[in-house]
Amino acid sequence: MIVPGKAIGVLGGGQLGRMFAQAAQSMGYRVHIYEPSGDCPASAVADQLTSAPYDDPAALEAFAKSVDVVTYEFENIPAEPLKVIEGIVALHPAPGVLHICQNRWREKAWLEANGIAHAGYAEALEGDIAAAAAHLGLPCVVKTADFGYDGKGQMKIDTAADLTLAAAIFRGRRCVVEQWVEFEREISVICARTASGETRAFPAAENIHTNHILDISIVPARIAASVEAKARELAVNIAETLGVVGLLAVEMFLGSDGRLIVNELAPRPHNSGHWSIDGGETSQFEQHVRAVCGLPLGPSEARNPTVMVNILGDAWTLREGEVSGRPDWTAILAEPAAKLHLYGKPVARPGRKMGHFTVQGTDVDAALRLARALKARL
Ligand code: AMP
Repeated sequence: MIVPGKAIGVLGGGQLGRMFAQAAQSMGYRVHIYEPSGDCPASAVADQLTSAPYDDPAALEAFAKSVDVVTYEFENIPAEPLKVIEGIVALHPAPGVLHICQNRWREKAWLEANGIAHAGYAEALEGDIAAAAAHLGLPCVVKTADFGYDGKGQMKIDTAADLTLAAAIFRGRRCVVEQWVEFEREISVICARTASGETRAFPAAENIHTNHILDISIVPARIAASVEAKARELAVNIAETLGVVGLLAVEMFLGSDGRLIVNELAPRPHNSGHWSIDGGETSQFEQHVRAVCGLPLGPSEARNPTVMVNILGDAWTLREGEVSGRPDWTAILAEPAAKLHLYGKPVARPGRKMGHFTVQGTDVDAALRLARALKARL
C-alpha cells in the first residue's frame, strides 16, 4: 500500500492530471507531473513538474526514481519507452493495456478476440476507405487508428460524395472504418480495480455528444435498471480481463434492441466521470488514487442525480460571429445547485475543453432542465 505522504507520478498534464493531482493532494500525496509542454493545466497544481518528451529515457528514469508509483491521465503516449519506468517503480495500468487501448484497430481486435460486442469494422490501410466502406455499407464512420480523441481524426460517411472527400482527407493514414450504430442512448461506465483484484464500478452515465465531442453527461442514465446492471457488469469484466490496475472507462452504445455495444476503452479518468467530483460518494479521481496506491476503494454510487455540462472554447471565441471575452459565469455561480470547474487554460479554441459545470437535483429531469438553462446563459 502506498500511503498518504508518498509521491505519485502522473504522465500527462491536462485537465485530468490537474483534477487527479487535486484529489491526491487533498489525501496527503505529493504529485509529480510529467508533460512535454510545460505550460499545462496540471502545472499550476503539481508539487513537481518534468517537462520532457514522452520518449526521453533519461527524463523518464529520473521521474520514476522521484516517485513511489506512476499512472497516467492520457493514453496517447508511446508505450515502449515506459518500460524504463516499470524497471524502477510500479506503473498502473500496465503498458500492455495502454498499447491495446491507444490504437482503435488493436482495441477492436481485442474486443473481438474476447467475444465482446462492438460495431462492425474494417481496417483501411493507406486510407483505402472505399474498399472498407463497400464491405461495411453506408452510413459508416472513419477514424484514424492512432491519436484520435474528441472527434479529432473522425468523419461520418453518408454518401458517395463523403466517401470521395474522406479518401482525400485520410489519404496515407491508417484508419478504422466502422459501421454506424443507430443507438438509443450512449452510456459509459468507469470501473476501478486494484492490484489485489478489488473492483468497483461507478453508475452508468448517459452521454450526449455534439460534433463527436461529449456535451452532457447524465447520472443516473435514463435506462432500465437491468441494462444499467449489465453495463456495470460488462465494464468490470473488461477491466478484469485486461488486468487493469487503476481506472477503465468503457463507452458503449445501447442499441434499440437493448444490446450493449462497446465503442471505446480508456484506461484513465474520463470526461463522463466528472459528475462524480460533486455528485459521487467518491470522485473518479480519488478512486484512481485509491486504485493505484492499493488503498481500499471508496463507495461509488451517486449521492444525487447529477448532470455535467462541458464548457468548450466556443463559449469564449465565437459569439455572434465575433471573438469576444469570457463567458458570463454569473448564472452558474448564483445557482446553489451548480458547481463550476475551470481548468486554467490560457487560450480558448473552438472544441477545446476549458471546464465543466455540474448541477445536482432531486430528480434527473429537473437537473437536466436547469443545466441546459444555465448552459444557454453562458
Ligand atoms: P469516439 O471518438 O469513437 O468515442 O466517437 C465519438 C462519438 O462519435 C461517439 O461518442 C458517438 O457519438 C459518435 N460515434 C462514433 N462512432 C460511432 C458509430 N460507429 N456509430 C454511431 N456513432 C458513433
